[in-house]
Amino acid sequence: MKSTILVTGGGGFLGSHLCARLLEEGNEVICLDNFFTGQKRNIYPFMNNPAFEFIRHDITFPIFLEVDAIYNLACPASPVHYQRDPVQTTKTSVHGAINMLGLAKRLGIPILQASTSEVYGDPEVHPQPEEYWGNVNPVGRRACYDEGKRCAETLFFDYYEQHGVPVKVVRIFNTYGPAMDPYDGRVISNFIVQALQQKTITVQGDGSQTRSFCYVDDMVDGIMRMMRTSENTTGPINLGNPGEYTIGNLAEMIKRMTRSNSPIEYTPLPENDPVRRCPDITKADNELDWQPETHLETGLSHTIEYFRQKLKEEN
Ligand code: NAD
Ligand code: UDP
Repeated sequence: MKSTILVTGGGGFLGSHLCARLLEEGNEVICLDNFFTGQKRNIYPFMNNPAFEFIRHDITFPIFLEVDAIYNLACPASPVHYQRDPVQTTKTSVHGAINMLGLAKRLGIPILQASTSEVYGDPEVHPQPEEYWGNVNPVGRRACYDEGKRCAETLFFDYYEQHGVPVKVVRIFNTYGPAMDPYDGRVISNFIVQALQQKTITVQGDGSQTRSFCYVDDMVDGIMRMMRTSENTTGPINLGNPGEYTIGNLAEMIKRMTRSNSPIEYTPLPENDPVRRCPDITKADNELDWQPETHLETGLSHTIEYFRQKLKEEN
């Protein structure tokens, strides 16, 4: 049956891919965004689609709509952007969650929260299973995002227990792919753009810190599988690609794949930058029958092609 789905943050990187997939499946999509980090060009392809509707709105303020399900993705995800206005980041995570949960409660509909691996902070357990409570500095530079997302999870589970709202919480690990903003500050977009422009590739720290990178198509598939689960599957569930790479290796890989002559420079490591990060995805495998399928080199080559095109258009 055709559903009307609300996607908050639908103008962003992940949100625009999700809108595309929901429209392909025949749903009506309401995309809500305040363009804090999102781009209008991400939703241009849908603007003439009668099943698509856009609302410019900040989720820290209430909104009354009639929909069948909510994907709550609104929140800047890049450390550079979420630290730009930290109070707004916490408000988006916490007030935004309260507003969206209130909407879900009034309508009695499922709501999915895009949580994050950052709830584990700088983890002492590796790889990170959902049972791990994390290691977050509550007054550090990353706290507005990490603690905001942790509080949002608390709210989701309290609305589930107290009000019976069918909640779904996924903890997303670093995700990349086409439609990332070239200047959004995340490591993959930074390195590819620097390499293609023959500029210095900026590795922060000594490059030994690790991350695990998931291609966007795999991520969207996991998120949508989560929404389709029965009411008693609430999560939290990790979604990410367990392939783990050092940031130094990533820089070398991108330099090689772009055939770039860029030098690699080591700059100071930002405060509280997690030393390692890798998801344990046993739960996603068992409960969603989900495993990422795209190898890093394959995903990077699609992403490099996207940025090559994007930078050509800019010139
Ligand atoms: P993004 O910055 O590209 O997209 C976020 C979108 O939310 C943007 O379009 C932005 O304008 C919008 N937004 C921000 N504050 C808002 C507000 N108050 N009201 C309405 N819209 C608002 O980031 P993304 O990578 O697409 O991330 C989407 C979600 O997934 C975020 O919640 C993020 O925390 C989560 N996540 C992403 C990753 C990742 O690697 N991409 C990892 C972990 C979690
Ligand atoms: N990073 C880097 N150079 C950059 C941007 C990021 O070395 O130009 C590093 C950053 O210090 C972190 C990792 O890459 O260790 C991933 O950073 P990102 O901002 O993508 O997201 P995070 O996983 O830290 O939230």
